[in-house]
Amino acid sequence: MHQYHVLQSGTIILKPDGRRVRSLEHRCTAVLVWPEKAPVSARNTVLTDPCFTFRGFQSAQNRLDRLGLSFDDIGRIFVTHPHSDHRLHMPRDAIRRRFPHFDPRDTAMPGISAVSCPGHSRRLHALVFCAASGEVWITGDAVLDEEWLRAWGFYWPNGYSPEEIIQTWQSVAMIIKNADVIVPGHGEPFRVTADLVAHLLAGFPHATYADACEYEVSDLLRERLNEL
Ligand SMILES: [Zn+2]
Ligand SMILES: [Zn+2]
Repeated sequence: MHQYHVLQSGTIILKPDGRRVRSLEHRCTAVLVWPEKAPVSARNTVLTDPCFTFRGFQSAQNRLDRLGLSFDDIGRIFVTHPHSDHRLHMPRDAIRRRFPHFDPRDTAMPGISAVSCPGHSRRLHALVFCAASGEVWITGDAVLDEEWLRAWGFYWPNGYSPEEIIQTWQSVAMIIKNADVIVPGHGEPFRVTADLVAHLLAGFPHATYADACEYEVSDLLRERLNEL
């Protein structure tokens, strides 16, 4: 079992209907993960998507303070996918030391796995572990936020091919089938509930290229709905 805490709340300017909310920053969700029953140290912590804006870094420091921790207690980093808004970035001169990358085969940190979720990026991997709230999936931009998920939206400014969009839906279905809590790439964590899955199932036939993977995606969603 692990615990997790959002250090930088992810936000996204672009909404699925094409609106842009200029008061928001484009910044990813950064999460600290550590084993439930061990004292926290640089030996057993993983920080996901450590791409901090100036404001995001300040709030991360405050949140670490409240946990009685500092950036010195962060051992490894895990980048869900190699887009520039997720790779390691700290405000200028904030922290100079290096952070090694987390390897899920690391036997010193058992119980955390990396699961391939291609589509948004060919190399996207979710970080998956068990917490008190159930199975947690830190998905990077496989799920941008709950609003984008509910709209079956994909981040169209990236110019995706039909194959990549279809892969995105297959990854989303696999995530919904397994996750109890989703920590999306640019939003707050949320639970996979019967209401959410029913909404997704009803909306999927209207998603772009849904006809190319409708049975497979709908079957996984229906299976999950029956379990909830
Ligand atoms: Zn992103
Ligand atoms: Zn991305």
